[in-house]
Amino acid sequence: MPSGRTHDRITLWGLPFVAGISFGQTQSSNLTLILSGAFLFSGLMFGPDLDLNSVQYKRWGCLRWIWIPYQKTLRHRSLLSHGPILGTTLRLIYLAVWLGILGILVGIVQLVWNVGWSWQQFFEVLTRSLTQYPSQWIAFYLGLEIGAMSHSVSDWGGSTYKRFKKQGRIKKRKLTTVTRRPKSAAVKSREKR
Ligand SMILES: [Zn+2]
Repeated sequence: MPSGRTHDRITLWGLPFVAGISFGQTQSSNLTLILSGAFLFSGLMFGPDLDLNSVQYKRWGCLRWIWIPYQKTLRHRSLLSHGPILGTTLRLIYLAVWLGILGILVGIVQLVWNVGWSWQQFFEVLTRSLTQYPSQWIAFYLGLEIGAMSHSVSDWGGSTYKRFKKQGRIKKRKLTTVTRRPKSAAVKSREKR
């Protein structure tokens, strides 16, 4: 598995490509900005490795503890954290639940919008923004998904490479032991004499 630093590098090097392709496809700087921002966020601190004590997890700073139940529930590199679509969707739902809880506790909503908190209002605002800005939300989700998949693909690629390397080493070792055996037998018989 590549280290956290390698994953960071992949994200940063991937950013110009993601932004370029996104702008080429949408011709919209607004959507490109959202998608690239989501890609960065996903690659650096909202990626699959939140299922373990990783750099991504540490980047949440004083809020990192919200990911502890996530880590305790999911096996590292399971399909629920590293799988396509499933990983990002589950993390979004998980974060939304925490945001809801934190929102109620701290009363952020009342301060920002100067209105009383209610779930009904919250869902109204959410559905309104989802229906009014569908392409922005799709760009945001796509950015998150591409960031997560750049991680998972490099994880799987790294493990496959290591497995091949290990197999190669085992084969080599077998070959050397086979060639060495007559030598050691000869030494043994010499010692007996
Ligand atoms: Zn990983």
